Amino acid sequence: MKQETAAIHAGNIVTDSNKPAVQPITTSTTFLHQEDSLVYSRANNPNRMALENLLAKLEFGEDAAAFSSGNAAGMAVFQSLEPGSHIVAPDDMYHGLRAQLVQMFQGIHSVSFVDMTNPDNIAAVIKPETKLIWVETPSNPLLKISDIKKICSIASERKIKVACDNTFATPVFQNPLLLGADIVMHSSTKYLGGHSDILGGALVTKKMDEFWEKVKFVQKTGGAVPSPFDTYLLCRSIKTLSYRMKGHVEHAGILAEYLFHHPQVEAVYYPGLKSHPGHEVAASQMSGFGGMLSFLVKGEADDADRVISKLKYYTNATSLGGVESLIERRAASEGPDSKTPPNLVRLSVGLEHVDDLVEDMDQALGK
Ligand SMILES: *Cc1c(COP(=O)(O)O)cnc(C)c1O
Repeated sequence: MKQETAAIHAGNIVTDSNKPAVQPITTSTTFLHQEDSLVYSRANNPNRMALENLLAKLEFGEDAAAFSSGNAAGMAVFQSLEPGSHIVAPDDMYHGLRAQLVQMFQGIHSVSFVDMTNPDNIAAVIKPETKLIWVETPSNPLLKISDIKKICSIASERKIKVACDNTFATPVFQNPLLLGADIVMHSSTKYLGGHSDILGGALVTKKMDEFWEKVKFVQKTGGAVPSPFDTYLLCRSIKTLSYRMKGHVEHAGILAEYLFHHPQVEAVYYPGLKSHPGHEVAASQMSGFGGMLSFLVKGEADDADRVISKLKYYTNATSLGGVESLIERRAASEGPDSKTPPNLVRLSVGLEHVDDLVEDMDQALGK
């Protein structure tokens, strides 16, 4: 079954004898005690089962676990490690998960942040307690590219798990499990949801091992699970994921080229550009370069803010992956400890007509 077909059918498990074409929402929190039946909605629910089945298919894994947010999904991986574990994480990573490692897991695990664009930097910090390499590629917000296969070969020699945050790439363009990773993580708030109206997260495992049992235990017992309505909406959204991604990647490529040649733009970070240092690695592991890009507006933070304020079709808001274009000056969202350049603008390129997007950007950048 190809991905487009799985997207439409694998998240639609109909058990109702009336055979509706679309799986109904099961709101009941509890179920009649009987052999092999569901018990309680925190442990499992028919809509969540359908979503997890769908996500496992899309990422070529054996099983999936859905969470109430991307952060809850990432946290479940960190919580499933033995206390005292050492984690290697990227120097450019989603700031909320970085904050978990630095602030919430302080005293439980230790972390080394390294530039993963060079896998040698990972090998250099590995020690006997290293249990996890956390990868994010393309990374947020600098769109850095790490070589998943190379990282996995470093890890597998030493029996270290590799988990990959695949939010920016989506399962349409990159499948880390096929490149050797053990776990894939998604913020389904982003492209999977695709309409900026669902908060969610997910993990997919390559195989059903002891570590995955711990993850499922954290999901069920920690209880950060998504609601039946949210899981239903996600299954509905994912039906169009492949087609939305075709539009996002086409528009992002056009805007990246446009920005690259603009005199008011100092730099563009988009792995689809030949000038991007990770272009070749990205081309080898991704089937499309995604819909996210960042760029530096010439000047200071104020100059970047001025450009953003003149835009009509881009909403100045955080988050990404929706049909509407979103733009923000990233350092302002990340707060005072941000390492992101103050004039960096992050852009989630939407599905409006690309001519409108270019024209609007053109009038905002000026000459
Ligand atoms: C948004 C995001 C997260 C966190 O997901 P939430 O759903 O906001 O909790 C994690 N990683 C990346 C790359 C993200 O963009």
